[in-house]
This record gives sequence, structure tokens and C-alpha cells, in this order.
Amino acid sequence: MKKILFATNNAHKLEEVRAILSDFEVLSLADVGCHDDIPETADTLDGNALQKAQYVYSRYPDYACFADDTGLEVEALGGLPGVHTARFAYADRNDTEANTDKLLRSMSKKTDRRAQFRTVIAFINKEGPVLFEGIVRGEIAPCRRGTDGFGYDPVFIPEHTGKTFAELGPKVKNCISHRARAVEKLCRFLNEKYGYEE
Ligand code: IMP
Repeated sequence: MKKILFATNNAHKLEEVRAILSDFEVLSLADVGCHDDIPETADTLDGNALQKAQYVYSRYPDYACFADDTGLEVEALGGLPGVHTARFAYADRNDTEANTDKLLRSMSKKTDRRAQFRTVIAFINKEGPVLFEGIVRGEIAPCRRGTDGFGYDPVFIPEHTGKTFAELGPKVKNCISHRARAVEKLCRFLNEKYGYEE
């Protein structure tokens, strides 16, 4: 089975992505012994995804590699937290509970609760980088609901569902999520261009 390196150690993301890229052996950073603090200093999702993928590929050129970057873009907040989604509450760390609290506080008086999750995947191999985007539209719930998933899942209601990602669970999330949509595009590209076999 063809190996491909996903520049993450996030167990939730790995599980989501492995379920979609089932024709590939998706390796994590831990699987290749990479424990570096990977730079993520760009001011766009595209820039960060590319920066992470290029960093990892430059160290592990034996594997085609991809990295993702995700932003929650809230209409009433002018697109924030956007590229600051991971560090919305504190500039120096990713604190999920504090991020979600800050989002709910920022939205407490807003009637327009429309938002979207946007994922950019940067894939890179010897032929250079290619970007893929996945978007899911929805709205911000008034309070946390559900126990599945991670990050902002308890407060994001994808359109046409009436439930948060954390209530919908991994099976449904993996059919409609921003990341699933970006990974499906990557999957189509890989299959068309390289086929399943090594
Ligand atoms: P990253 O850039 O993909 O690591 O994600 C940035 C931030 O968005 C992190 O704080 C994650 O918790 C959050 N995030 C990314 N993907 C999801 C998701 O699928 N559901 C909820 N939150 C997410």
C-alpha cells in the first residue's frame, strides 16, 4: 500500500483522514520519528498549510507529504477567528475550552450566527506543491452541545442538520466536514495521478 505522510500528531485528525484515504497508509509525524515544533507563522490558511508541508517534506523527502490548516470563519466577527482559530483566546497556546468560551462570549449578542469551517490541504512531492480546499457552512450554537469530536465541534452546527458536530458524531462528520471535503479532493487527485499501487 502506498505510504503518505500527514504532517500531524492530532489523533482526531488522523482518524478522520485515515477513514477517507483508506487506500493509502497514512503515516503521522510520530510514525516517522518527527517531534519538531513545526513552524506555522503565515497569515493565511494556505500559507500555513504550505509552510508545514514544505518543512516536513524537506526533512522526509522519501514520502509524499501533506499538511492541513483549518480556520473557523464567523460572519458577524468579520471572518475571525480565521487563521487565529487555534490561538483565539491566548496568542501563545491552543486552549480549546478557552477558545470556545471566547467564541461564545463574542457571539452572545449576535443574531447573525452564520459561520464556516475552511480547511486547506497542501500536498507536496517531487513535482511540487498542490493545494485543496474544503468548506462546510453552518452556524454557531448558543452553547456547547454533544461530546464527540474536538476543538469547536460542540458549538458548530453544519447547515441542514440542526445538530452540532459533537452531537452528530464521527460517521456523519466525516461525510460532510471541511476536512473530509478537502481530503476527498486530495484523494481524487492522488488516485487520478498516481493510482492506488506503489
Ligand atoms: P488546525 O490548524 O487544523 O490545527 O486547526 C486550528 C484550530 O481549529 C484548532 O484549534 C482546532 O481545534 C480547530 N479545528 C480544526 N479542525 C476542527 C474540526 O474539525 N472541528 C472543530 N475544531 C476544529
